Parts: sequence; structure tokens; C-alpha cells
Amino acid sequence: MPRRRVAQRTGPALRTHTEQIVTKADGAWYVRQIRGSGAGKDYRCPGCAQVIRPVTAHLVAWPVQKALLSEAAIDERRHWHTACWARKH
Ligand SMILES: [Zn+2]
Repeated sequence: MPRRRVAQRTGPALRTHTEQIVTKADGAWYVRQIRGSGAGKDYRCPGCAQVIRPVTAHLVAWPVQKALLSEAAIDERRHWHTACWARKH
């Protein structure tokens, strides 16, 4: 059995300087504003189940406390419409 290499989780550039911590009913979240750009892909907003086009300014949120079964909280990040996130409890 080969020894399992420990993955170095330096993570994407998300862990930088622009995120704030926002507390919702289900816990604390890192929130980062995403400026709309032509690049990127479509995301589905968990708030309204509608697609977020890459050109739309929106935000990405991930929990400060990772879920039990996930490897890293950053893997749980979700893209939200700014308004839908504001409506989230
Ligand atoms: Zn939405």
C-alpha cells in the first residue's frame, strides 16, 4: 500500500483579503463579492434556484465551520445573487 500523500491545501485565491464574515441563522459564513465579468461559468443560486450569469455581480459564500462530511469548508462555497443572500436568514 503506498503511503497516502497529504494534500497541501493552499486553496484557490479565495482565502485572500476581500471576504467578510457574515452570521446567518445557520452559522457564520465567509462572504466574498464577485464582480461581474464575461469570463467564468453559470452558477445556480441556492436562494431562488435561478442561474447567475457570469456578467452579474454576485457573491460567493462558504461556511466558517466546515460540514462534517466535507474535506474543506471552501469546497462548500456557493454563489448567490446579492439580493437572495440578503434575504437568507
Ligand atoms: Zn437568487
